[in-house]
Amino acid sequence: MSTRAYRYITSRTSPNQNARNRKISGITIHWWGNPVGQKIEGIVSWLCDKRAGTSAHYVVSSGVVYCIVDPDRRAWHAGNGRANHTQIGIELDPNASQRSGTMATAAALIADLRSVYGDLPLYPHKHWTSTACPGNYDLKALDRLARGKAPAPAPSKPAPAVKPTTAPAFPLPRRPGALFYYGSPNGPIESVSGMGLNTAVPGDVYRDKAGRWHSRGLAKWQQRMIDRGWTELAQDGADGRYGKITEKVVGQFQELVGLPVDRKLGPDTWAAAWSEPVT
Ligand SMILES: [Zn+2]
Repeated sequence: MSTRAYRYITSRTSPNQNARNRKISGITIHWWGNPVGQKIEGIVSWLCDKRAGTSAHYVVSSGVVYCIVDPDRRAWHAGNGRANHTQIGIELDPNASQRSGTMATAAALIADLRSVYGDLPLYPHKHWTSTACPGNYDLKALDRLARGKAPAPAPSKPAPAVKPTTAPAFPLPRRPGALFYYGSPNGPIESVSGMGLNTAVPGDVYRDKAGRWHSRGLAKWQQRMIDRGWTELAQDGADGRYGKITEKVVGQFQELVGLPVDRKLGPDTWAAAWSEPVT
């Protein structure tokens, strides 16, 4: 690690660390997601505060890397004690204006770490515990970049991930007296939110091991929208639940494609996610 492609700062050290009892076997990627707009210096100060009770090895923004815990020691970042013993934790800047630079800097850091610790795989924080972290960071792209296989994604004109295609059939019943749609949990029985049991569509909703309800069809639409570049939806992932963010995105999408803005995800709004060109 003689020449680094970034400013490497070691002047801050977090007290939130202890000894590792396992070999390093991976790199866990985080972002300091919310609230938006936080600067790297503020995040570093917080992670170096004993009261935070949390840390990471590295905090990264475009062109800058703070090392606040020696990677040979155990930082507290994964929300999972065992994972903390095996992982190197990297916190990434979530701010859109810094995104492509942060990707490039993180990739350079990962390449440097691999030259020392071997070919460590990347894990999203959510691999270890229930969290949305690291939001819409694309770890496959980061891995490619760290291996020198792809240029940094252009910040201004991201390539559409999907092409227009024929939509799959709308999953809910649509016959007189049973015009179902995906919508608010406070609506009538025809409004399938995926947030609770709906006895009218037992095949569409299911309960996971943790007891949370989801809709299979809604998850499919959410995933298609994430693939179209609606990164806000990626915060919770395609979870098949009609929450506040999904409601907002349904309304914005309806407006964008010229459908009546009722925030009810019926057959037209469903199909448009596949058939409308990505702009
Ligand atoms: Zn995290």
